[in-house]
Amino acid sequence: MWSLRQWRRRRYLRRAPLDEGLWREALRRVPLTGGFNDAELGRLRDLATLFLREKSIEAAAGIQLDPLMRLVIAIQACVPILNLSLDDYRGWHAVIVYPDQFRPGREVTDEDEIVHVDDEWKAGESWERGPVILSWEDVLASGSDGVNLVIHEFAHKLDMQDGVANGAPPLHRGMARQAWAEAFSAAYADFCRRVDRGEDTRIDPYASESPEEFFAVLSEVFFEWPGVVDEEYPRVYQQLRLYYRQDPLARVAAAGGD
Ligand SMILES: [Zn+2]
Repeated sequence: MWSLRQWRRRRYLRRAPLDEGLWREALRRVPLTGGFNDAELGRLRDLATLFLREKSIEAAAGIQLDPLMRLVIAIQACVPILNLSLDDYRGWHAVIVYPDQFRPGREVTDEDEIVHVDDEWKAGESWERGPVILSWEDVLASGSDGVNLVIHEFAHKLDMQDGVANGAPPLHRGMARQAWAEAFSAAYADFCRRVDRGEDTRIDPYASESPEEFFAVLSEVFFEWPGVVDEEYPRVYQQLRLYYRQDPLARVAAAGGD
């Protein structure tokens, strides 16, 4: 099963290569890839090509999606899995794109079993075994202030792989669940205290919403502003480095940045 899928993927990559000009143009729209080396760019390109084949990116509320927009989304979705696998996004099929923020208007059941309609405006959502939903306007705002909506929503997808969004994706062999839990719970408690005090944090205060939002927001910052995660919560940086199998800080240093 596994090898047949791999064989089909390799065959597809040989037969349907991505247009070079389109690839270059899309990469320019994702500045965080600036420090990627050639091997990483090659893997990212293969993953994004396969992502576009295996997932369906669908337009909602009248937005027109062109190949460049689809590729920009695919590239950012594949950054977190650069050294993992496209199979980590299995079990769901669609990415739905709205022109700007949207209100899902769906019924949700809270922890007291009370059903109400979720009518808050949202920039993005990730449903367990369901679609990822994105506001294109907020996709465009990614890269500034350490935010990245696509990485945020796909971090939720990785977190939900074990069936529950709790801020802890299934860890790799060799990683210790206790080390993860200690690093994240101490950082989360500290961050919530700082937000409660009204501190002007470099990390989006939305991260204090819940442990799963903390993981998703810290994942965005890990890729966009790795130095901030490393300075503020070095143990979280180390756990994210082990989990994503990437060291964005080393990439920034190699590129001569700070
Ligand atoms: Zn979230």
